Amino acid sequence: MDLNTNIKQLPPPNNIKISCPKGPQSQLVTWDAVRNPDEVIIGGVIEKVCYNVYRGISANGIFYKQNQRPVETNRYEDLNISKNPNVVNWYKVSTTYKVRNQEKWIEGPLSGPIIYQVLNNNKWFKKVNERNFWILRNTGQLFDLYTRKYDGERCSKCFDPIRGRAATPNCNECYGTGFVGGYEPQFQLYVREKPATHDLGIMPQGYVYNNNPGAWTISTIEIKNRDLLINPRGIIYSVLTSNTNQAAGYLFHQELTMKELDPMDPLYQMKRVALYPNL
Ligand SMILES: [Zn+2]
Repeated sequence: MDLNTNIKQLPPPNNIKISCPKGPQSQLVTWDAVRNPDEVIIGGVIEKVCYNVYRGISANGIFYKQNQRPVETNRYEDLNISKNPNVVNWYKVSTTYKVRNQEKWIEGPLSGPIIYQVLNNNKWFKKVNERNFWILRNTGQLFDLYTRKYDGERCSKCFDPIRGRAATPNCNECYGTGFVGGYEPQFQLYVREKPATHDLGIMPQGYVYNNNPGAWTISTIEIKNRDLLINPRGIIYSVLTSNTNQAAGYLFHQELTMKELDPMDPLYQMKRVALYPNL
């Protein structure tokens, strides 16, 4: 058990993708770099942000760390691939950082499992997808999906033309997106929540209670970081990280982590519409 619960951890990277640019003998794992928060944490200043890459042969099995030293770039080439075509590799990536003048690396939670599989007509994939769909529809809940606007009519209240974005995160016109309305209503989709990780975080204002459930879904559109999912009880979650498995073909199997919004968040005042299931 980790007793250092007050030590800040960085979330796993977003947009983890697996590809085979050199053919089947190697797999390339890439991800979006986690921005160095460049902030003072307890015990010092974050000096360096790196990553660890793990590999397993099933989504729920054991994952083993592949890199000897923390990976400094946002890519890892796995040359140690089995020649057996029935062996499927799953990957997870975590973010780790070092504090200036300290030797120890602080590793954050692992991402969801990511797989590479391109053939949609592959029987194995079809079976897995059908099974996942069954689980999702029978045990998931219908959430409303609102996607964050990155374009559209600019907010007249706070859009800053020089920086090209909203000037106030609490704006009640654009909710910090810089575009009128802030979010685009999409549809309802089944989301299956995983057990939440609850923790007490330390902010400059004091202690805060964090509720960050993991979740997964299958959707026709790619859910992105900072999109909103609203559960049947009206609780709004902001997507913190999302990773899409390439296996999905026209449907995306997506692993998410979410953050429950504070009840006082202005997004609870956002105008909402009735949405219907998309599947
Ligand atoms: Zn605004």
